[in-house]
Amino acid sequence: MKKMFINGCWVESQSGDTRKIINPFNQEVVEIVTEGDVEDAKKAIAAAREAFDHGQWASIPATERGRLLFNVAELIERDKEELAKLETLDTGKTLTESEADMDDIAGVFRYYAGLADKFGGEIIESPIPNSTSKVVREPVGVCGQITPWNYPLLQAAWKLAPALAAGNTIVIKPSEITPLTTMKIFELMEEVGFPNGVINLVLGAGSTVGNELAVNNFVDLISFTGGLMTGRKVMQAASNNMKKIALELGGKNPNLVFADCDFEAAVDQALNAIYFHAGQVCSAGARLIVEDSIHDQFVDALVQRVKKIKLGNGMNPETQSGPLISAEHLEKVENYVEVGKREEANLLIGGNRPNDPKLREGFFYLPTIFTECKSEMSVVQEEVFGPVLTVERFRGEQEATKLANDSIYGLAGAVWTTDVIKADRVASQLRMGTVWINDFHPYIPQAPWGGYKQSGIGRELGTTGLEEYTEQKHIYQNTDPKPLNWF
Ligand code: NDP
Repeated sequence: MKKMFINGCWVESQSGDTRKIINPFNQEVVEIVTEGDVEDAKKAIAAAREAFDHGQWASIPATERGRLLFNVAELIERDKEELAKLETLDTGKTLTESEADMDDIAGVFRYYAGLADKFGGEIIESPIPNSTSKVVREPVGVCGQITPWNYPLLQAAWKLAPALAAGNTIVIKPSEITPLTTMKIFELMEEVGFPNGVINLVLGAGSTVGNELAVNNFVDLISFTGGLMTGRKVMQAASNNMKKIALELGGKNPNLVFADCDFEAAVDQALNAIYFHAGQVCSAGARLIVEDSIHDQFVDALVQRVKKIKLGNGMNPETQSGPLISAEHLEKVENYVEVGKREEANLLIGGNRPNDPKLREGFFYLPTIFTECKSEMSVVQEEVFGPVLTVERFRGEQEATKLANDSIYGLAGAVWTTDVIKADRVASQLRMGTVWINDFHPYIPQAPWGGYKQSGIGRELGTTGLEEYTEQKHIYQNTDPKPLNWF
């Protein structure tokens, strides 16, 4: 049985409860882990509080924090095969995807390792004679971090690396169904040697452990990635002590295809946009919006390719798409397809579980396309988080941007056109945190990631991702103090 990491030790939960971690490809038990609850979360928070307020962490120079993070990146590189396999067993995603994740994760640690000692303050030119003014950045304190199941280690890296680079102490809670790679990275961080209490891992459910991180008065910042509904609960709980919040929530991301696009590239990437990780991606291009004049030809080309997508075991190099994460999530996706049918969207392909007996034990769903969709349909507006693509038509640039912006979300979107001026014009009109031009999905650690509207609050990655984990302090000094004699 695998344990959680509190105050520098691997410990079992106080209750002694355990949880089975299941491979979504065949429902086999991959691991049994300890299952924490509120009391364990409180212990971890107390350890992080003590380490921040009274531990040696505060006196460790930023350069040394950077060195520790560089070492984590090295160990991720060293163990990346094992980490990638673990991620695939836990999430069902293909090994190719998991391997790419591990490269990205090492890159995120390296990026923040390099930034740790380049984030000093600034001297302000004070307008008041005989005074100096400077602004310094300091760590926020104890950070609670909650991650989702779709990119367990990647999302953890986006939070751990900047928080530690900035000098905070942390308590992280991965999704209860996908904790394995986060547990493994704690083994690596233990090997690197962070002081006790600086890094803490609590396993357990969102409603107990997650809620405790959000509500607890000794936590100074809560960083959450997950669904919109849960994000609302976290925001409410965080108001308890007005802790800082960073929320990375869902998306229903438009993929705008103009008639003057590079047709082959746009078709290929439209598939990638939605069927990557079986559509369980916050930035999935689930909403394809195609110019009327090429709509039919584009959809035909998509269908020909969709028929050939190979579902299977993520460990098999020939597999192009793995299962969904759980039976519960599969049911949610099925329900959305029923909603789409009731709304009279045209089910063109998919819309079922596969017949293949080899896939029977897994939570598989066929790649699905709905055409003749209208913007107001729930299947178009709501995040399905599965391999379900809705297709709408537009005529003219104005209608294209209007449709793309018609969403409560604003995470990401793409524009496909060979007209670079039009591409820039459309990109500037889209109300979302990331716009790709002639591409879909890439993100880089150097650039901020996050959403407009109900896709979240704050940004991860880039220098902003580090700033989120700091407080700014203005230090003003009177260099020639004299009585004012006002009173
Ligand atoms: P959930 O919102 O269900 O869960 C996310 C995390 O929150 C999990 O660790 C969960 O724990 C925890 N949690 C659940 N209830 C509470 C609560 N009351 N208080 C505190 N924490 C709680 O999301 P999913 O795991 O289903 O992930 C999918 C969602 O994440 C999608 O909406 C997706 O768009 C979004 N996402 C956004 C990203 C972005 O960058 N904007 C990136 C990746 C995903 P447990 O699972 O143990 O119950």
